Amino acid sequence: MGLEKIGTIIGKEATAWTHRCGETILSSKPIKSNLTGLKLTTNLNNDTICFTNQIVQINKSLKDVYGIDSKLTSLPLAKKISTAIENFCSVNKKKDLFKGLELNCEIGPNPNEMLTRNYNVQTGKYKITFNKKSDFKNLDEIIQDAYNNGEVPSNDPNILFYRELGHFLNFKNNPIAYNITTGRYFCNNSELISFKLSNSSNIADFNANYIAGRMSGQTYPKILQTYFEENLGNTNVRFPKPNTSKFNPGSTHKFTKISDVQKYLLDNYGIEAEFMTTQQANYFAGAVDDMCKMTGDKTCFNGLKITKDFNTNNLTTQMRTRWNYDTGEASMTINPAFDWKQEAKKAEIDFNAGYHPTKNPKDRYRHELAHWLDFKGNPVKYGQTEIKFLNGNESFNEYGKVVTSKVSTYATKTPAEFCAEYIIGRYNGEKYPKCVNKLFTQFWNGPEIKFPI
Ligand SMILES: [Zn+2]
Repeated sequence: MGLEKIGTIIGKEATAWTHRCGETILSSKPIKSNLTGLKLTTNLNNDTICFTNQIVQINKSLKDVYGIDSKLTSLPLAKKISTAIENFCSVNKKKDLFKGLELNCEIGPNPNEMLTRNYNVQTGKYKITFNKKSDFKNLDEIIQDAYNNGEVPSNDPNILFYRELGHFLNFKNNPIAYNITTGRYFCNNSELISFKLSNSSNIADFNANYIAGRMSGQTYPKILQTYFEENLGNTNVRFPKPNTSKFNPGSTHKFTKISDVQKYLLDNYGIEAEFMTTQQANYFAGAVDDMCKMTGDKTCFNGLKITKDFNTNNLTTQMRTRWNYDTGEASMTINPAFDWKQEAKKAEIDFNAGYHPTKNPKDRYRHELAHWLDFKGNPVKYGQTEIKFLNGNESFNEYGKVVTSKVSTYATKTPAEFCAEYIIGRYNGEKYPKCVNKLFTQFWNGPEIKFPI
């Protein structure tokens, strides 16, 4: 029985998104991605085959040490994939993790198709065929571009190979389950969770991207692991310890009376505020310190008023910024119906659900303060954009959702939410691909922000 050809991967996907960067992010209708006819690599006049001693040695060691049947002919490719294999095997303390995998280089019909995956559910055979016509010398550049366009979970130089090897590990664990996942995709808004990793084209892709991201040390909200497990990912794979959490506590206060915080805010920043608890007041005062430090302007919240809003039955919303773009006035309200003793717990839950980028309860206030700065910078533009989005006349298109999802699910709602969520992510040391930074520059109306890290 011959091997079934299932498709081509790295290159076309990357190019499709690069190409689309020139298009508008805003659209009332999602744009369907068109993968045909886009080029990734230059068509090489000279063949890149190099049968050096080094490559013979790499192929031999892949066979002898890992049981991989390797017939690679490109040295840069062989070096990269063996590093990725070694890293997987060392973290998992198993040399036979990729036993039976076949690696090959062939002249493919199209230089833009960098590889083809072939698998057979009955025999368990799995082969990755790299295209000899592709230029694997540019791998670092290709990976960096893919990261900056939001298509891969990190800018680790091995990320594309972690992803390919991730596909194999999911297949090897349960070939039938793997085959099913290649034909399935997230529905409704759950795609936003998968977009945090990349613009995965199906569940099999999401599962491979999850493995790749974790292999490169990324920290994710718990919901991604849940999706991976529920969607038949290989749960036996072990990952390196994630990068330590960089959450930034910022300025902290320990006032014992709400009235002391009120005086502090009025005297130092010209803010008049009501609070529900002393802890909330202390969090808020710290958040104001942090934001003013980033703008370098102690007067940037001058005139801000915070009141308790008693006209709500909503138990989950903590705070709201209200604005009037005709008058340029804005105010903040806090919700007395919310259980403020649960503030820290809610922040943790929201983070694990992917809803907000951090689990620091103080970020709730930094977020609202960011709205104030954004609005004050250009009340009319802020107001008009928000109204369009909130009325449902405008929304982020598919690529806009991929980009904003890198920050949080909430960031996909409107440009203002994206900007506020971006600021708290960056404040806490999150690094985002260029496409995300660019979108922030496009929408942000507030003063220049100097992020601490
Ligand atoms: Zn908001």
